[in-house]
Parts: sequence; structure tokens; C-alpha cells
Amino acid sequence: DYTKHARWDGPIVIIGFGSIGSGVLPLLARHLDCDLSKTTIISPDDRHRAIADEFGVRLEQVALTPANCREILWPLIGGEKAFVVNVSVDVSSLAAVELCREAEALYIDTVSEPWAGFYTDPGLDVSARSNYALREAMLSFRRRHPGGPTAIMTCGANPGMVSWLTKQALLNLAMELGQVPNQVPASQREWAALAQRLSVKGIHIAERDTQRALHPKEPGRFINTWSVEGFLAEAVQPAELGWGTHEKRLPPDGREHESGCGAAIYLSRPGAATKVRTWAPMAGPIHGFLITHSESISISDYFTLREGGVVTYRPTCHYAYHPCDDAILSLHEFAGREWRPQPNWTILSEKEIADGVDELGVLLYGHERGAYWFGSQLSIEECRWLAPYQNATGLQVTAAILAGVVWAIENPRAGILEADEMDFARCLEIQGPYLGPVVGTFTSWTPMDGRGTLFDEDVDNEDPWQFQNFIVR
Ligand code: NAD
Repeated sequence: DYTKHARWDGPIVIIGFGSIGSGVLPLLARHLDCDLSKTTIISPDDRHRAIADEFGVRLEQVALTPANCREILWPLIGGEKAFVVNVSVDVSSLAAVELCREAEALYIDTVSEPWAGFYTDPGLDVSARSNYALREAMLSFRRRHPGGPTAIMTCGANPGMVSWLTKQALLNLAMELGQVPNQVPASQREWAALAQRLSVKGIHIAERDTQRALHPKEPGRFINTWSVEGFLAEAVQPAELGWGTHEKRLPPDGREHESGCGAAIYLSRPGAATKVRTWAPMAGPIHGFLITHSESISISDYFTLREGGVVTYRPTCHYAYHPCDDAILSLHEFAGREWRPQPNWTILSEKEIADGVDELGVLLYGHERGAYWFGSQLSIEECRWLAPYQNATGLQVTAAILAGVVWAIENPRAGILEADEMDFARCLEIQGPYLGPVVGTFTSWTPMDGRGTLFDEDVDNEDPWQFQNFIVR
């Protein structure tokens, strides 16, 4: 399906041209009615220059910094109305948004990224190094600058697509439970009320990536199926999770932030050293890493209900990520080095992968039927057939960016927003053809399955869905 979803006459600026940038370019070329000769890529590395050349796109080999950002971007976006697609590491999303607003350019990114050095700055306390802090900075900027050109923050697969999947999963669940709303919820409050009515206690972003490399990993090399630099950065941020109203007690190392929306807590340790139990249909029960992600915070925030200023309902939400097996080995090595990066890294291209599936979805738990997983099971084989220059993990991300770009063109004055605030059905319609099988499954699994047989454990036997039962101690 090569439908042209939207028309874009102005320049497109792609910041960063790694695994995601080089995968999204073919999708934009395929589905936008646009003049690619007006596109510029900004990237300090040119490992994918051949792909830029194939599409007739100019690559400017330079790193953006706080000092040169305006000087480099303004000539590209200050004239004809532009679209900026930020798929880099180490470039401040907020700085880019500020410039785009000034130029009336549209904007999308896939993470709320700070300038280089933020994640490993020992001068910042743990709360200040969190995604909560990065998101609060964005929310505060938005409060001071409402409306204006559309700038979509944190819109990849996760964060991004999983917010759309959560809404579809809630509707599916409502249907299965015989509680279909008269109308599809139209506001944040109506969505939160639906989740409350269905008694959803929590939501996992449950992912198992089984893509296997053709060649075994060598020591000293970090292998992953997407940005190694991006993964290393979030791995050493604190574990963070949206904190639901059904939770009875804060974890021993759990901390609340002193200001902001209050939707999330953090644990005083890195996400890459924090494992949680979860479940996905092909994988079954797994241990995933509680890596911090902004959707853990935004989804919990979005589904919060307040009465007279008091929070009456909120689901817990967090990531439970089982990356590809080589990345597990790589993380183990990275931890052993006390979080000092290995000297070498590789992002597996579609040619370097033997087989496997990225199974990525949302697990809604605590309701009448236990738990319900809804998501994408994209195999590397199907991915190769669907789109060039990316693996299954990448395609789930780039197709979400495509959906975001089209939605922004269709809604050019929506101001700064997160994926939770977009039209989920339109976005899934555009993204769907690239997701492989999209599956919804109930499971009778709970985090109490098989527990306490060999050792005594500190568990809550009354309520299987307490975070206390999910975390691996
Ligand atoms: P990558 O590591 O393959 O590529 C990063 C790119 O950024 C490279 O081209 C690099 O040269 C460039 N870059 C580095 N410093 C720069 C600077 N100062 N100025 C301009 N460019 C710079 O990463 P990727 O896998 O392509 O991921 C890109 C981004 O997307 C990352 O921030 C990553 O965390 C994010 N991501 C989000 C999701 C999601 O689902 N939301 C999924 C995967 C990746």
C-alpha cells in the first residue's frame, strides 16, 4: 500500500540519520506527496550516506550544539514553511521546538532529548536526571506558550504508538466485558473514566524482542536493535513508573518528586538494574527491565481522574523491556563495568539478523478478565518485505513517525502535544500496515504464578496486581 497520505510542499529537515532516520526517509518518500530535493539531513556521522544519495537528499555532516543550533537550522527552516523530524541523540528537543515555533515550522521527535551530557551529569540529583523532569520542562514550556504550530513530542513506537494502542485496547476490553461506551471517548476525562469503569489497575508496555544476530556477540561490544547511545542513556536513568491509585505502599527505594504533575515516582537505582515480571503472547511470562520512558509517565497522567483537585483514579504504568538476547548480554557487561560504556557498538541492520520478532504491546491488568495484551508482532522476515533499511524494531518506530507527520500536516495548529493527545484511530490507520500481526489476547497469568515455592517472598497475596509483586527483588 503506497498511498500518499498527505502533501507537503516545503522543506523537510531530518536531524540525525542513524537506524531510525535512515528507516523513516523511505517511508516519508513513499507516503508523502513532497519534493525530496528540498530535504536536508543533519548528522555528524555519515554511515548511511548511500541511503540519502539514493533518495537525492543532501546530508550536512555536522553536530548540533547549543552554540550552533540556530546558525545551522535557521537557514533551513526560516523561509518556506518547513517540517523538522528530530531523530537524533544529544540534541535538545526543547531547543529545537523553540526554533521551530519561531519559524512556524512543524516538528516531531521520538524522545524528549536533552543536550549531550545530561544523563551522566553527577551534578544533577536523581530526580533531576529523570524523564519526569524532562517532561515537566516540556509541560512548563507549553503552559507558557500555548497553541501555535504543531510540535509532537515523544512519538515513536514507545513512547508514541503504545499510547494509541492503549486506547484501542481499552475499547476492545470494553467490548469483551460488555461495557461498550455509547460513544468513543472524546476527552482526556472520558478516557480516564472508561479505564476506571473497566477497573484497569495498571498498564505494562510489555516488549520481547527475539531478533537474533547472524554472528555471536564479541566481548566489549554493545549490540542492540536500535540506538545503542540512546539505550545506554536511558539505562542509567532511574527506573520510573506512573504510580496508580490502587498501589498500597511505595517501594523501599521509591521516591516522589517534589513538584510537577505527581503522576509518577522513581526508584533510586538505574532502570537497567531493575527487573519486573510481565507477559506477552509469544514470549509468555518474562522478566523485563524497568527502563524509564516518558510514556510511563504520560499514560498514567493522561488516565488520571480528579474530583475537586483530589486524584481519585490513576493506573500504574511502566515499561517491561526484554531486549534482544545480544542486548541482554551487552547490558550485563555494561553493568559489570559500573555503567561505563563498552568501547564498541553495533546496531543490527536487517541484513545482520537471522530471525526473530519484536513483540511490542500494552498489557492492561487488574480488570474482571485478569490481563489483556494488545500489540504488534512484527517479524524480521515480514519487515524486510514491508520496507527497506530497517529491522522490525525500527519499523515499529518509523511507521509511528510517519503517522505523526501525516497527522501534523492534517492538524497544523495543534501546538505542543504528546501522542496521548492525538487521534489514535487515524494514527493506527496509517501505521497499521507496517505492524505485522496486531493481536489482542487475554491471559490468566499474574505475577503470582509459580511464586513462593522454593523461597519465601515478600508478596501481597491479597492483590496480585500490586507493583510489589511485579518487581524482581
Ligand atoms: P542512532 O544512534 O542510530 O542515531 C543517532 C543519530 O543522531 C546519528 O545519526 C548521530 O550521528 C546523530 N547525532 C548525534 N549527535 C548529534 C548532534 N549533536 N546533532 C545532530 N545529530 C546528532 O539512533 P536511532 O536508533 O536512529 O534513534 C534516534 C532517536 O530515536 C534516539 O533519540 C532514540 O532514543 C530514539 N528512539 C525512539 C524510539 C521510540 O519508540 N520512541 C525508538 C527507537 C529510537
